[in-house]
Amino acid sequence: MAAYRNHLEVLRRAFPQPVSDQEHDAWFVFSMLRALDRVDGMKSQRPILGEPAEIDFSRAAATRLPESGSTVEEVSRILVEHLSGMFIWGHPRSQSNVIPPPSIPGILGTLLPAIYNPNLCSEEASRGVALAEAEVISMTAELMGLDPAVAGGVFTFGGTGTILYGIRIGIEKSCPGTMQQGLRERPLILCSDQAHYAASTAAAWLGLGLDQVVRIPTAANNEIRTCLLEDELRRQLRQGRRIAAIVATMGTTDAFGLDDLQKIREIRDDLVHEFSLDYVPQLHADAVIGWAWSVFSDYDFQSNPLEFPDRTLRALAGTTRRMRHLHLADSIGVDYHKTAFTPYVSSAFFAHDARDLALLARDPGATPYLFQSGSYNPGRFTLETTRSGCGPMAALGSLRLMGRIGLRTLLGHLVTMAETLRNRLTAQPAISVMNPDNFGPVTLFRVYPDGIDTFEMPRREQTDPRLVHQLRQFNQYNRLVFRHVNAEALRGDGVVISMTDRFRDTDYGEPVAALKSYIMSPFSDAQYVQAVVDSVERARRQIPPELTDAAADGLDIRPQN
Ligand SMILES: *Cc1c(COP(=O)(O)O)cnc(C)c1O
Repeated sequence: MAAYRNHLEVLRRAFPQPVSDQEHDAWFVFSMLRALDRVDGMKSQRPILGEPAEIDFSRAAATRLPESGSTVEEVSRILVEHLSGMFIWGHPRSQSNVIPPPSIPGILGTLLPAIYNPNLCSEEASRGVALAEAEVISMTAELMGLDPAVAGGVFTFGGTGTILYGIRIGIEKSCPGTMQQGLRERPLILCSDQAHYAASTAAAWLGLGLDQVVRIPTAANNEIRTCLLEDELRRQLRQGRRIAAIVATMGTTDAFGLDDLQKIREIRDDLVHEFSLDYVPQLHADAVIGWAWSVFSDYDFQSNPLEFPDRTLRALAGTTRRMRHLHLADSIGVDYHKTAFTPYVSSAFFAHDARDLALLARDPGATPYLFQSGSYNPGRFTLETTRSGCGPMAALGSLRLMGRIGLRTLLGHLVTMAETLRNRLTAQPAISVMNPDNFGPVTLFRVYPDGIDTFEMPRREQTDPRLVHQLRQFNQYNRLVFRHVNAEALRGDGVVISMTDRFRDTDYGEPVAALKSYIMSPFSDAQYVQAVVDSVERARRQIPPELTDAAADGLDIRPQN
């Protein structure tokens, strides 16, 4: 027997058996159990797997492919070790970002395609998994108020991918023929100054250039100032510039700000008419975070069957008021891996009218696909060739697990916890909530040294350039608080929160930093909300008084009594 055949025999055992072999199947499942068991051994009371350790990239850079392979058992150990130090996003002491803990059906939806490897490039290579994509697209489209018989959608490589699709369609509409001939002019993208940088990424990668992204200031509640948007659009159109896309953010990353889609749509339609444009600028809703709140569109806020507290009701109604208009956008981006509790990557792009997707086809003669027509060839227009079945299957798993009631329950709980946190933070004399008019699971707050009038200070920092020195010192103060709070969290008594160095700019152009609590865990509860407040207070007491004095020194920023 040839030498390689021995190796081959060993390797064959490391693959799932093509024909059921009960003994081997059991061993396959057992090897997964062993891996999970090992991970479980890394759990403690703390919101982290194993020990927090410095990440050493120099060792990683020295790694080479060894001559000999390893056993499945050895590899399992190697892989599990790489999870050491990971935060457990589902831990109630974890409130760091818009990173959800995946649900078990979401995980199954990722695991099963990992074994059978459907390729959504074509129907032949994905079979029923292509149906999963069609089902998720249809149910989500309907949820967002689109007509599933007219709308179309496709999974892609993340929220960034959804914006890329929206802008690419907008380029083709504003500059027809670009797919074939390339760009001959550079149409603009307009979005708010709180829009995700993915819009800039798309502009850069699509060859428009970052200079073509025009960022419009936001109001205090983090929504785009539509009057300024209108002025800017009119100014650009008067100069003969074309508009590829207006990106409305439906749930900003740091603050959960919601743009007024209805007003933006009205402005766009009026300007198309006023300037007699021969195209319609694409209105893309970056709803990767906010889309899930669509489940409240038909919630009975009067009878409140889920018995949410009053503050929660108010917050949910405040969000729904804006999210109800999602269907006014030409295209929408959705991240199931943000607010539908799936593993990464699970994101989908939606076109209000599926025919828009045909603009992206490499073969211009290709008919636009509709699920109803029975021919499913997304590979004709998708950016990717190979597309994993994991995204749609995970989304299907998580959505079917929850249904509308489950999603309302989870989002309602996260918002309830965030409202509780706001309530308690507001009661602290040294803390200001910085996004009091946003109604999501994220709370931005700023901590000040003793003796600062926290009613006045945030507004004065925002508007008065004479306070630039204090502003910077308070930014630094918040970084120190953050460091203490996180160190405590890693020891197991605090809560993992995060920090944003610039959640907005002051009127005079300085970044304003804030601490950020993003509640995403179904296990979050009131005592862990209180733990944030307590941990911040302990941190404040540990920061040396010199720094406190230095921070409060200077202008008349001490309370005047
Ligand atoms: C996270 C986020 C994105 C980018 O999405 P990814 O899935 O991380 O690529 C875009 N827009 C907003 C508002 C986001 O919060």
